[in-house]
Amino acid sequence: MLERIYTIPINEAFDACAQDSTCGCPFCRLQTMLESNELEIILGGSMMEPDVRIKTNAQGFCLRHYNALLDRNNMLGLGLILESHLDELRAQLEPGGIAVFAKGGPAPVAVERLERLDKSCYICGRVDFSLGRMLANAAALWDTEKEFRDKTDAQPYFCLKHFRMWCHEAKRYMIKKRFAEFYDAVSKVVLAYFDELRSDVSLFCRKFDYRYDSEPWGNSKDSVERAIKFLRGV
Ligand SMILES: [Zn+2]
Ligand SMILES: [Zn+2]
Repeated sequence: MLERIYTIPINEAFDACAQDSTCGCPFCRLQTMLESNELEIILGGSMMEPDVRIKTNAQGFCLRHYNALLDRNNMLGLGLILESHLDELRAQLEPGGIAVFAKGGPAPVAVERLERLDKSCYICGRVDFSLGRMLANAAALWDTEKEFRDKTDAQPYFCLKHFRMWCHEAKRYMIKKRFAEFYDAVSKVVLAYFDELRSDVSLFCRKFDYRYDSEPWGNSKDSVERAIKFLRGV
């Protein structure tokens, strides 16, 4: 169950976030690392590999990852990926399908294809897969290592997305009683931050009222940005 290749980065992320609370959620940190590896690889030559190209042709990328690819400034690489992705899509949309849908007919193959496209991203798919294995491994570490449980208690927070995903993996891995203990420990970290953040957002809003001019900002200045990060992750 414990895969060494994942144990090392998990521990590194948990150590870094425990030492510096501005690092935030350790799984967000791992996700960012996985994403930047994928971006590196896809523009670094693997896009020319036929099996990768088959997948990018079929799946494309989500808007967030298209923007991340644009930021990498390899316009020829991205152009080549898009050229064959566009070709494949163009062929699949051919038989007048969209027009049939617009007239209220049965959803044709073309629309189903576009719906699939809307939900698919080559990088999200790969990152989700690896992150899922990391979450499962982190659950196993929590279950078996006291040191890792202490590290978990020392985290600044887990964002709600990764809290949900980690609970999901832990529930599959642990017996009921153990999972209850896990939930207790992890939710304690999440809810403490939740309450603190909630009061920071309130203070932030109050600061727009002149009557609170003299009240110090405390930690509230970036609370709106932090709330979004906490709600959605990364
Ligand atoms: Zn997170
Ligand atoms: Zn994506």
